[in-house]
This record gives sequence, structure tokens and C-alpha cells, in this order.
Amino acid sequence: MENATAQEPYLRTSVLVVGGSIVGLATAMFLAARGVPTIVIERHPSSSPHPRATGFYPRTLETFRTVGLDVSFPGAKTGDSPRRRRVESLTGTWFEEQNWTPKSESDTPKQKASDFSMYKGIGIAQDRLEPLLRQRASELGADVRMATTMLSFTQDETGVTAELRSPDGDLYQVRAQYLVAADGGDSQIREKLGIARTGVGHIRTVRSVLFTADLDEYLSSGANQFSIDQPDFNAFLSTYNDGRWILMFSDDEERDETQLLEMIHRAIGPRKVDVELVTTGRWKLGGLVAERFSDGRIFLAGDCAHALPPNRGGFGANTGIEDAHNLAWKLAAVLAGESAPELLETYDAERRPIAVLRHDQIFARDDINVSLGVSLPKVELFDDAAMELGQLYRSSAVLGAGPDLPPARMPDQWNGQPGTRAPHLWVEADGERTSTIDLLTHEWTVVASSAPWAAAAAGMEAETGISVTALLLGTDIVSPDGDDVAAAFGLAPGGAALIRPDGYIAWRSGPADDPRAALAHALAHVASAARAAQALQEGTTR
Ligand SMILES: Cc1cc2nc3c(=O)[nH]c(=O)nc-3n(C[C@H](O)[C@H](O)[C@H](O)COP(=O)(O)OP(=O)(O)OC[C@H]3O[C@@H](n4cnc5c(N)ncnc54)[C@H](O)[C@@H]3O)c2cc1C
Repeated sequence: MENATAQEPYLRTSVLVVGGSIVGLATAMFLAARGVPTIVIERHPSSSPHPRATGFYPRTLETFRTVGLDVSFPGAKTGDSPRRRRVESLTGTWFEEQNWTPKSESDTPKQKASDFSMYKGIGIAQDRLEPLLRQRASELGADVRMATTMLSFTQDETGVTAELRSPDGDLYQVRAQYLVAADGGDSQIREKLGIARTGVGHIRTVRSVLFTADLDEYLSSGANQFSIDQPDFNAFLSTYNDGRWILMFSDDEERDETQLLEMIHRAIGPRKVDVELVTTGRWKLGGLVAERFSDGRIFLAGDCAHALPPNRGGFGANTGIEDAHNLAWKLAAVLAGESAPELLETYDAERRPIAVLRHDQIFARDDINVSLGVSLPKVELFDDAAMELGQLYRSSAVLGAGPDLPPARMPDQWNGQPGTRAPHLWVEADGERTSTIDLLTHEWTVVASSAPWAAAAAGMEAETGISVTALLLGTDIVSPDGDDVAAAFGLAPGGAALIRPDGYIAWRSGPADDPRAALAHALAHVASAARAAQALQEGTTR
């Protein structure tokens, strides 16, 4: 980062991230981990005292793991998707469990996302998680500026200039090569760019109250979300697993402290417990996806790009964190000159369909339709595990993901299909037990079942400008548990799979006559490898 001087009126950086809530912080953390000079600004001095998200998926935790942030958060509660009960009140009569995805008729229990990851989901309040991301982003070199507001911005062919206000009220300018708009659902950046949104739209504004109460014993059944169903009172009660509870009303009425306490006690029911009010919140519920996730040098991420209502475990923050993870390696590759800027076009191509898919899946569920009164045409329902770990990317950064394929499947049904996340398997590498996720989420990697691919990978940096690591099955990776790693990656004898730095499979090949040429050709496409693409154009790559 270069500071402003009399001769140089700007503070310069590679990426300016506007919005330092969960998605902006994740973006800064992933960028900094790849060595990208990054400034992230947040207009508030700290995280919102009223947490929103609490449910984080295994995939989110996998992405954190790639930057050395493990899930041993103090007070975190691990488990599968939250379970919800319809109740008269928490300490009164309980009715049936409300399933998010209807139970299947088969006797075989449904596989969960945690069956395909080294992680279970985690329950941790957003205001406890954000400081950990902030700290990790700073440790990795991001410049995190709290109480700093962006007032205006302009972009041109070479970058973006933003006017910022410091905590002391001083105004200064930042010049960045790229800007990431993580400024939330009411994003002024998106508005100024004139990017419209589509979807079910704004449904309703609701209020909530956050309080503390000693009620943890009511969580022992495994349910941690409760639909309060009384003749003249419907609300939603849930916990942040740290003594704090949220009561979400279904209306936008302002209530004073006495009224809030009365409603809380109605939701708690017959048992008298001490309650302390913490704060209140007001939320817009709806479903809106931006029509474009980028404009020139500006990229939309998180709620700015897609406002999705809370579901079981939450698509909002989780989807936003995956946006950040998808975008960070692409920005890093382009800024390093390894990939041509066209690679950045794949961000919209890959992430927008995921947001639309999740939007449609949320509103295809009966219980959201009932609680929000929205009815959409029915679509095929995908299991949570398919949505979280079995989504398919189709873009020029993937070769071989045709339009005939479904947008999501259970992870073990893909068998190494390009466009999907490389599967998690426990393997032994360098004598240590590790997950394939740990091996495949840092750089371009070839997983190969024959040695010529390793020799081909070794020459790629010189040929294409992109360094490729090779992992030879049976030599570099062995399965201590007897798993068929080749089958999990769908590798034919003599074949190979090319994995992107975000752990997604970019391309797969059977045995090739000339692995070096095949790999260079693939990289020219899926990595927009600047040098290889040029060679291809000039016809010098065989
Ligand atoms: C009750 C509730 C429960 C939820 N539970 C879950 C859950 O369990 N799991 C899940 O995945 N999701 C959940 N969500 C959704 C989740 O909270 C959001 O998706 C997430 O907060 C979006 O993060 P974001 O960083 O994109 O946007 P935001 O959190 O809205 O942050 C945007 C930030 O940008 C800052 N900003 C805006 N403009 C500027 C500017 N000009 N200069 C500087 N800073 C600026 C704002 O101050 C703000 O901090 C829940 C939401 C609610 C309401």
C-alpha cells in the first residue's frame, strides 16, 4: 500500500473492498491470503450488536481453512442443519418437527453435507465470527479500516477512485485497480451502477428483539428453532448458542420495553425465567438477485449481489462467503498477470446462477411459502447437501460442463465432473493424513493417474505462465482407508483432472498422446492463461 503524498494524491491499493461485515471481511481475508494488497472499509466502528447469521455450512468452513482459520472458535457449536419445531411456546406444548426438505419415502437416511466434508456445520453468532475474520484478514496483511465510509466513487479503464471519510472526519482518496462492493442489500454502489435486481422482491419488513435467558435445557432434543404458534401470536424463536436468543416478529410494529418483555414471556411460555433485553432489529425480508454481478472493475458480492431470506442454516452469509472465495483467486491471478482479465467474467457466470438457484430453492419450500405468504411455481427440490457441496459451475473457467447437466446433485454423484468441487477424501501425502481439500485449494493442481502428467505439469509455468502442482495417485497421494481416489475423481487409467485454486475441477482428460500440449491447451481456456492463450492464437501450442 502506498500512502498519499503531495505529489501522489491517492492512497493506492490493488483491491478496495467496501463493506466490512461478514462478506467484505471474508473477501479481504481471501485476497490477502493470496498476497493481494487490499483495503477493506466499514462505516461502523465494530460488528452489529444484533447478530444475524448463526448457521455456517461445511463449505464455508472449508474456505476458512484454506487461509488457516480453523473452526475451533470459542463457544462454537457444531452440528448439522438447524432443526425446527412448531410449538405453542418454548416451555409449553411442542408440536411436530418442521422439515426443510420433505423427508424421502425411502428408509435410507438422507446424507448430510457433513457426510461429504471434514466439517459439520457450525452455530456461531455473526458478531462473534466477524472479529475472527477481521483479525485473520489483518494478520494476512489486509488493511482493515473501521469507522470509515466511502462517500463516492468513479471508475475508468485502469481503476477505481473512491473518496473516503476517516474516523476523524478527514476526507481522502483511494485509487484501486478493482473494487468489491460488499455493502449489503441496500448497496449504494449497486444503485449508482444502475444494476437492477429480480426475484420475488421485497416481501415484508419485520422486527426482532435480542435477549438473554437461561433456556439452554430446551435445546437438548436437537431442535434450536421454534415456530411460535398461538391463536393470536405467531413468531420465530431461535438461539445464538451463547445465552442470547432472538424473537422475530412477523410484523414491523415498534414495541416498547414492556411490550417486548410481554411478547418474550409469551414465546417462552408457562415457566418463569429471568430475561434481559439486549437490543432490537429491523429486517427486510425478500428475495432479490442482481442482474449483473459486475460492472467494469467493480464486483458485487454478498447481500449486495443477492438478498436471500434466512432458511435453515442460512444461504445469505454462506453464499456471500463463497462469492468472495470464488472472486479472490481470480482477482489475484489477473493482478499477478498470470490470467487475462477475461477470467473475471467467469465470476458472474458462476456465482449468479448459484444465487438464482438458491433463491428458487428457498421459495420452493412449503414452510417459507407459508411463513412469508409467497407462492412460486414449484421446481425440483435439491437436498441441502446438493445445494451446499454439489453445485455445478458452468463458465469458460470450466471445460466439459454441458447444458444437459443439472445445476446441483448430491456430491458423491458427480464423480469428478468438471465444474464441481473436488471431493473430500482422507488421504496420505508426505506421510501425513490430510484431506484432498487441503491439498487442492491453493493453486492449480493436476491429480493424475500416470507419470507423464507430472512431467507435463512441471513445464507449465515456463509454457503458460501458470505454475501447476502435480499429485500422482499411488505416489504423492495414497488412501489409508482404501478409498478409490481415482474413481472419486472419475479418472480413467492414464487420465488426469485439473483442479482450480478454489478447489473446483476445471477439466478432466483420459490418457493423452501429448499431456503437455493437452494441459497447456486446457489452461489457456480455463485459466485464461495470458501467455498460453497468446500462444494458442499464434498457433505455437500443439
Ligand atoms: C435474522 C437473520 C438471520 C440470519 N441468519 C443467517 C444464517 O444463519 N446464515 C446465513 O448464511 N445467513 C443468515 N442471514 C443473512 C446474513 O446475515 C446476511 O446474508 C449477511 O449479513 C450479508 O453480509 P454482507 O457482508 O454481504 O452484508 P451486510 O452484513 O449487510 O454488510 C454490509 C456492510 O457494508 C457497510 N457499508 C455499507 N455502505 C458502506 C459505505 N459506503 N462505506 C463503508 N461501509 C459501508 C455496512 O455498514 C455493513 O456493515 C441472516 C439474516 C437475518 C436478518
